[in-house]
Amino acid sequence: MSKKSNSGYKGAALSVLKNFDVNVWGDVRITTSDGEFSGIILPRSEIADDRHVVLKLTTGYNIGLEVGTIEEIEEHGSKEAHYKIPEKEFPFDPVKPNVVLLGTGGTIASRLDYRSGAVIPAFSPGELYGAVPELADICNLKTDKLYGVFSENITPEHWSGTAEAIKREVDNGADGIVIGHGTDTMHYTAAALSFMVKSTPVPIVMVGSQRSSDRPSSDAALNLINATWTAAYSDIAEVMVCMFGPTSDEYALLHRGTRVRKMHSSYRSTFRTIGDTPIARVSGGEINLIKKDYRRRNPETPLELDTVFDDRVSIVYYYPNMQPDIIDSLVDNGYKGIVIAGTGLGHVNKPLYPSLKRACDSGVHIFMTVETLWGYVQMYVYDTGRDIMELGVVPGANMLPEVAYVKLGWVLGHTHDREKVAEMMLTPYAGEITERETIDGYLIMQGGLPEMEKFLKNIHF
Ligand code: ASP
Repeated sequence: MSKKSNSGYKGAALSVLKNFDVNVWGDVRITTSDGEFSGIILPRSEIADDRHVVLKLTTGYNIGLEVGTIEEIEEHGSKEAHYKIPEKEFPFDPVKPNVVLLGTGGTIASRLDYRSGAVIPAFSPGELYGAVPELADICNLKTDKLYGVFSENITPEHWSGTAEAIKREVDNGADGIVIGHGTDTMHYTAAALSFMVKSTPVPIVMVGSQRSSDRPSSDAALNLINATWTAAYSDIAEVMVCMFGPTSDEYALLHRGTRVRKMHSSYRSTFRTIGDTPIARVSGGEINLIKKDYRRRNPETPLELDTVFDDRVSIVYYYPNMQPDIIDSLVDNGYKGIVIAGTGLGHVNKPLYPSLKRACDSGVHIFMTVETLWGYVQMYVYDTGRDIMELGVVPGANMLPEVAYVKLGWVLGHTHDREKVAEMMLTPYAGEITERETIDGYLIMQGGLPEMEKFLKNIHF
């Protein structure tokens, strides 16, 4: 990008830059009616407004200055950003485990091009070594960029494609797999991979970041380091999510792929194990187990795939006054499976009953989960619950709604036989249904450091 370019700026904002004869990437001091700000003028997104000049402050944070407040701009020089991280050759050490990092996209794989909003991946082993040299102390790293999408664009094809890539790499001798993924739908993909990869000899660790790596508070490097440690050395051969435990950077938690959920839109400690405890915590290369019941690493275990998926499935989040046409339209549009997130123990209003009956009678498979997320569906407690079951709706135990949705698509990829579907849905394949909910699953492990420390002190095995 040329120094003289004022890319992205237009209208009033462009006039201000021209008036003071400054350009994008200019190292400037701007005097405004609200005070003085020093930093680099960043390009603007082409779709952004024309009322702000965006500055990267020396602290690393970006601010937008309203053009009407700008009194003076002095340019001292210019510092054009280089998006390319210097590549260094990733060293190979024959005694270290071999880890493969599969990229699917999301913030962890991106640094932002401010002008177009496009994502610039920093993903080759060389770039990663340049950016996070600690990775070379852990393992020999190979990377493969499978996709480059924000996670709202992930589809069942990405799930099965990722599962196939995992098999390919494990069959080729990988000692652990790390999957970089956008955090927003990471829990759906973690559930899908938990069902599609039926057995694995090595850990499969999903990781993301809530803050991109150009921000001082980024969690990208630490999450990557903890996930890579887990993939390289942990004994847990399951699909897991590895992300910040507390809000600060003390440790990461390893969450089982079928019991994890993104719970906060911006905290770095956004992932929580729901209705259970995380499997372990990781920090400084140490993996402290919290649970005993997990599948062990075993080179003899074959990696078996089962990647079927029938995507004619949907989730309906119940709200008061929901109208029957919501259910009718799904049935009329050919959907074959519906997961309801119902109120309390698993309820919906009476006006929906005839549509639910019509749906079940026409062969649509409907499963009930709870909006409360914690706790079990319990449809025997009230008459209304029993009535809903009479219509053909099946209680889904303590499966999380999103997990039940993914599982229903996977089950319907195998069979549409009513009894068989119910049997498969209620059989735990990957820890998605638990016999009971530990009290710890609700009361602690919410990211509070003191509770966590106290809890860990009482674990002895
Ligand atoms: N929107 C992004 C995504 O899920 C957020 C992230 O990566 O954390 O792809």
